Amino acid sequence: MMSANRCVTFMNCSGVRTLRTVGAHISSVDTPPVAGDTVIDLGGARLLPGLINAHDHLQLNTLPPLETARRYNRAHEWILDVDGRRRSDPDFEALIAVSRNDRSLIGGVKNLLSGVTTVAHHDKLYPILSDPGFPTRVVTRSGWSHSLYIDGGDAVRDSYRCTPPDQPWAIHAAEGIDSESAQEFDRLEELGCLGSNTLLVHGIALDAERRQRLDHAGAGLIWCPSSNLTLFGRTAEVQWLAERGRVALGTDSRLSGSRDLLEELRVARQCSGLSEILLESLVTSAGARLLRLADRGALEAGLLADLLVVPGDRPLSQLARTDVRLVVLDGIPRFADEAHAARMAPPEFWSRIEVDGCPRMLESTLARALSAAGCREPGVDIVDLTWRAA
Ligand SMILES: [Zn+2]
Repeated sequence: MMSANRCVTFMNCSGVRTLRTVGAHISSVDTPPVAGDTVIDLGGARLLPGLINAHDHLQLNTLPPLETARRYNRAHEWILDVDGRRRSDPDFEALIAVSRNDRSLIGGVKNLLSGVTTVAHHDKLYPILSDPGFPTRVVTRSGWSHSLYIDGGDAVRDSYRCTPPDQPWAIHAAEGIDSESAQEFDRLEELGCLGSNTLLVHGIALDAERRQRLDHAGAGLIWCPSSNLTLFGRTAEVQWLAERGRVALGTDSRLSGSRDLLEELRVARQCSGLSEILLESLVTSAGARLLRLADRGALEAGLLADLLVVPGDRPLSQLARTDVRLVVLDGIPRFADEAHAARMAPPEFWSRIEVDGCPRMLESTLARALSAAGCREPGVDIVDLTWRAA
């Protein structure tokens, strides 16, 4: 097993020149390696902080999206359709009967393979999500309520009041295109639930005046454009809020959302005028700030050694998960191409897998869990649980 205090210096990166990690943290940036370091030459590839997915329902990602040509006015209509299908579709019922731990594991793998190292999960914090072996970190210091239409005003207000003010509190809100959806924002204000730690998920129905009130309250918006476009044919207007650092990006689950956060970035780019730099901040620095995660979201000394390596020739919004070269969590590699895997850890650390037809390496404990799960990640095959060099 790798030493908890091992030192690694990444060199020849685009973004920062060098970055040194000691154990689970970044120790310095733009300093030469120290004698005894493992030195990884990135050959001009891009080094980024591990990405932050600000909204997912990890246990729902193996369920098939609802095949419907229907567009909705508000989220509640869609939820009624999904519930109806759960009762009438045997395939859906079989998939949801798979253990929640296995389904959540696939949700974690979906995120890890796209370079995500932190996920804000919108549901109960099942024990598996805090397990150190789970594929990504999951935000644990936070409060949440589903929505006003599911939970009701009293429970929503109680949930907000029970959340310490230094922790984020998230709720699906203004998820629709009608006036009823917009008025959810007003209702949250009346209930005293719009504070600087409030994160509204979706916010499609917010008009300019409500966006100003959100900004004035110091609250944030979690933007999930793929899900919005699928269900409503429209998404939130985010430019003004994003320029103020008030927006983070989330995938939502695959029941309505994108395949992963890289695809979400591509959709976000296509349906907004946000620059690549601003888009990237939504999944790094702005995401960390809104989720009150002061220990990540940037490449700075003292922060967590959660890292992502991707090609240096294209912006994030043009990448797919087959472009991911290396993902590091707590200073330890989890997923890599063969070249980076060989440099980062000995062969016994890895299992050989295939991702969308490309050879890749996955940390072997995780690969074993994946191969034993009662559901699978589409596009991923376990080739060999041990890595035997060809
Ligand atoms: Zn959601």
